[in-house]
Amino acid sequence: MSESDDSSSEESSKCDLDHKQIKIWNYEYEDHEWVDSDIKTLIKELSKAGLSPSKSCQNKFKQKYYQDESIWLSFCMANDYDQFIRIMITGLKPDSDKYKRIIGIGVNAWESFIVDAGFEHHYHLLHTITFPRQDYDYVLEILMKHNTFNFFAT
Ligand SMILES: [Zn+2]
Repeated sequence: MSESDDSSSEESSKCDLDHKQIKIWNYEYEDHEWVDSDIKTLIKELSKAGLSPSKSCQNKFKQKYYQDESIWLSFCMANDYDQFIRIMITGLKPDSDKYKRIIGIGVNAWESFIVDAGFEHHYHLLHTITFPRQDYDYVLEILMKHNTFNFFAT
């Protein structure tokens, strides 16, 4: 496992915007990859869970859907997206505010997790999820807990 402080705009970048990137170790693919520096810990934990997003961004939709910044993840596999949501709602009561926001039926749309599916280059079906910056710590904490119990279990 290694990590460098290099920033780069090289083509292998997973972000289309001009965010500062950092190289991390991807546990799922056992290789290095460039990701937005603000979400490097999240992407690393996702790779430990076997849920590496094909693309990601620390703030893709600047105030388009949200009043504040938002994190964007794009999964190639519908299974990965399903699993991500399942992990996030584990232990939450269905009538809780957080549960509703995560499955996208929160009172305020801009506080909910937004799910979208679409084709890229006309043939790759991507499942994307966007969530408010304010939920970053929660998402990371839940993922880390999940990985603590599952990472070395295989
Ligand atoms: Zn970005």
